[in-house]
Amino acid sequence: MIDTTLDAGFRNVLLIMRQVGRDLLRPAGLEAEATGEPLPVDHPLFVSWNRMGLSLGLAQGRRGGGEAAPGQAPSRMARSAILAAEELAFWDQGALLALPGPGLGGPPIQLLGNEDQRRRFLEEPFRDPERPAWGAYATTESAAGSDVARIRTAARRDGDHYVLHGDKMFITNGARASWVVVFATVDASLGRAGHRAFVVERGTPGFGVGRIEKKMGLTASETAGLFLEDCRVPVENLLGGERGEEAKAGFKTAMATFDLTRPMVAAMAVGIGRSAWERARDLAREAFGAAPYAARELGVLDRLATARRRLDAARLLCWRAAWRMDHHERNTVEASMAKVHAPAAALAATSAALDVCGLAGVVDPRVERCYRDVKVFDIFEGTGEVQRIVLARRLFGYPSEG
Ligand SMILES: Cc1cc2nc3c(=O)[nH]c(=O)nc-3n(C[C@H](O)[C@H](O)[C@H](O)COP(=O)(O)OP(=O)(O)OC[C@H]3O[C@@H](n4cnc5c(N)ncnc54)[C@H](O)[C@@H]3O)c2cc1C
Repeated sequence: MIDTTLDAGFRNVLLIMRQVGRDLLRPAGLEAEATGEPLPVDHPLFVSWNRMGLSLGLAQGRRGGGEAAPGQAPSRMARSAILAAEELAFWDQGALLALPGPGLGGPPIQLLGNEDQRRRFLEEPFRDPERPAWGAYATTESAAGSDVARIRTAARRDGDHYVLHGDKMFITNGARASWVVVFATVDASLGRAGHRAFVVERGTPGFGVGRIEKKMGLTASETAGLFLEDCRVPVENLLGGERGEEAKAGFKTAMATFDLTRPMVAAMAVGIGRSAWERARDLAREAFGAAPYAARELGVLDRLATARRRLDAARLLCWRAAWRMDHHERNTVEASMAKVHAPAAALAATSAALDVCGLAGVVDPRVERCYRDVKVFDIFEGTGEVQRIVLARRLFGYPSEG
């Protein structure tokens, strides 16, 4: 659907993304489902996406989370990003996550990187449309998922290098990335205050790829384990300064990048929920004919209508969070609300779609895939449980932990 409250510019974004989603992402996602493997790096989707200038655009988008300079005009970037995220996820959420670009590694470099780092990591790799490139972001370890303070990948200064040692897991596009923003600790006893972020480039001795995960969903997207064995990373690749206060301030700012990425992940969940919902609506219409009267049929309609109300509310929460960001207003609470609400609404919508379609849903390639794919949106970028705690703390004015 096209929301008539959108102005012509936003509607245009939506229409372009609809075409890209329908013509490029959906077929690529189905291919990945058929092979059971992530899309290969030389898949034509990636060059087509690049030729539209979209990787470079993403790499160089506005720095998230920052304060507005006095008199700075509102941006349209965050709202365009969530419109695109929902629409592309509607067509194929796995292929969407596989698209070239800096991924979650982009915001920390945008925010904490110096001019040289932004040029080396956000411009140069993404300039040539014929050579798709990826960035990645690695915090997760076997004992550090939600509790990021527990990361054990160690960083030790040695001359003009840092020596990194440890393992990362479940890293989106980790095996194909030209560089990965790796979070490591200079002193595990300091918790988050000891964390530093390093851009580790592919080919650096001691940096390698472990297992590519076989997942329940998001098949088109690669999820990789990474290892660092006495991996020497030049000091120039450290993001956000070396010393305690400087680095700590940098990390607080880096956390603010989630204020943009959380509404985007939430919007993707809405897109998946909407995709399953629309399929279920069509199947229900087919089954019920012109006028549903039976109590069961009315019950089905009510269930789908409830799911749709929740999805629409989720979309509005995403929009509000993005609107505030575009208007240079702090949106941490609004971003958390969107992230808490949208995956839950999308889970409920895909579950309702599967239920009301019955056996047709179990074998329907769209509905069953949405059901498998949607769960992870309640896991990455802060699990639902943890986000609810974070949100409650913020609403009551308690400081966040760590
Ligand atoms: C497809 C996919 C892609 C991913 N991509 C990336 C990536 O690119 N980069 C990256 O760094 N990571 C990535 N991740 C990892 C993801 O961020 C983590 O899975 C997530 O942070 C949760 O960590 P965990 O799985 O270790 O769960 P845990 O943190 O161990 O949590 C397990 C359960 O306990 C609950 N829980 C934990 N703490 C609390 C608490 N304090 N109170 C109440 N409940 C709690 C959680 O909500 C969850 O239900 C990806 C994961 C997946 C599945």
